Amino acid sequence: MSSIQEHFKSDKNGHSNDAEQSHRDSGYSPSYGEHAVPQKPLPEKDWPMPKLRIQVADLSSPGSIEFFANLHPTELLREAVMAVLTTLYTPENCPRHVRSVTLYIDEMGGVAHSNGSSLDDDHKEIHLSTSHISNNKQRAKDEIRGVIFHEMVHCYQYNGKGKCPGGLIEGIADFVRLRAQLGPPHWKRGGSKWDEGYQTTAFFLDWLDGKFGAGTVQKINLCMRQPYRVEIFQEVTGQSVESLWQSYKESLGN
Ligand SMILES: [Zn+2]
Repeated sequence: MSSIQEHFKSDKNGHSNDAEQSHRDSGYSPSYGEHAVPQKPLPEKDWPMPKLRIQVADLSSPGSIEFFANLHPTELLREAVMAVLTTLYTPENCPRHVRSVTLYIDEMGGVAHSNGSSLDDDHKEIHLSTSHISNNKQRAKDEIRGVIFHEMVHCYQYNGKGKCPGGLIEGIADFVRLRAQLGPPHWKRGGSKWDEGYQTTAFFLDWLDGKFGAGTVQKINLCMRQPYRVEIFQEVTGQSVESLWQSYKESLGN
């Protein structure tokens, strides 16, 4: 087992601080969409672009072949970085500490996960499962893009000094995926609680951004540079998160 593998193994049990943040995502259902992804502006000098790298364990695996048949890795990673930065930040307040992002394409369980490298949290790693690519062959391009955009959020978002609920972390990641028009068609609005995570929280955040103005989710993310407190919703919108969730549910007719 390599030192990298050992690191991932040890990462499975949690991620509670900024320096050692790891996210594992295995709950995705497949995407069937043929969404057009709007062209993101090319990185301008105001937006920091990290060094982008890729490591492929086996170029002849069906998942790797499918990946390269559908996507150019440089474009994929650049667009993912730009989607995250332009959705969650401005050039003035965006994080500039991320020095590199490496995409690992390898056989593994689950869908994907991300973490800081074992040596330095400024070097990020995104791991994508070749099995997941193979299992979503009919819509490989959209599915890979959606998953990578989601994981790229984890490389750049704030986590309230490790105190942010996991559901909000995942919801912000899928909010960026949703805003990039990469939300799979089976995603549905609704859910049982605001911090259920993934698309449930993503649609809630999307509603907040519409109701309280573009930049609302940016503000929530930026508040989480400090230790997370649920009161940040009140401070940003003037209403408690439970009250907001009730209004959201009412807007859906339930
Ligand atoms: Zn995630």
